[in-house]
Amino acid sequence: MKIHAIEAGRVRVTKRWIAGEGKGFRRLLNALFDKTMTDWLPIYVWVIEHPEGKIVIDTGIPHDANKSRYFPPFMPLVQRAAHFDISEEEEIGPKMRALGLDPKDVRWVILTHLHQDHDGGLHHFPCAEFLVSQDEWDFASGLKGRLNGYLNQRWPRGFAPTRVNFGDGPLGPFPGHTKLTCAGDVTLIPTPGHAPGHLSVLVKEGDATIMFAGDTSYTENNLIGMIADGVGTDIDAELETHRKILAYAYKHPTVYLPSHDPEASKRLAGRIALQFE
Ligand SMILES: [Zn+2]
Repeated sequence: MKIHAIEAGRVRVTKRWIAGEGKGFRRLLNALFDKTMTDWLPIYVWVIEHPEGKIVIDTGIPHDANKSRYFPPFMPLVQRAAHFDISEEEEIGPKMRALGLDPKDVRWVILTHLHQDHDGGLHHFPCAEFLVSQDEWDFASGLKGRLNGYLNQRWPRGFAPTRVNFGDGPLGPFPGHTKLTCAGDVTLIPTPGHAPGHLSVLVKEGDATIMFAGDTSYTENNLIGMIADGVGTDIDAELETHRKILAYAYKHPTVYLPSHDPEASKRLAGRIALQFE
């Protein structure tokens, strides 16, 4: 199976955004008011050339993400703490076409969650079925979603993704899962914490699992170090998700690929699994 790591723009955020400090609301304020920024980090979109159809995981950010009116007026702190860098040609549609992949051929677009740097390229996939967890949809849509910081006013009109409920029973340490492909080699699992309905994608390749982890942690090191981010909705759930991923990866060789880890594309290319000493 050919799998592409496509960098659709870059993001930099405050250091306490990536590795949170403090508890509760104070933790969020620490992340938003921190004056030190990370280096530019990739925004990865993953494209899987699966025999049952092309699969895209997350869709990146749009090129107008830095415009002053991209975020609503009540979110100046978020705009201050998160910067984007992307040109029109770097959006996922043009990037795929440059690789000879037609976005119109994509069968499924899986959204790990609905933050703006993951759902910013929905319009590039007019023929795809979108998948998002029911919990994330409930949290992110409507006025409530807007107040929770989701930019749902930017979703294409009539956006109605298939909601995933993980009804296929437990899978190892994970309480549920949903099989996507008939072959059974692409599975969606709940990985809440960073966002309430965050999901991850497990792709079986021989004995190995490739895990597309969204923002479960910002880097592999933060997973191993059990470091929760500073903006997640539930720090305990996030750390519990880390434990479950590590328990899974201990039993099954797992290539762990968060969306913004600068080392992720190298690990994918070399199929380098998480190491335990
Ligand atoms: Zn996120």
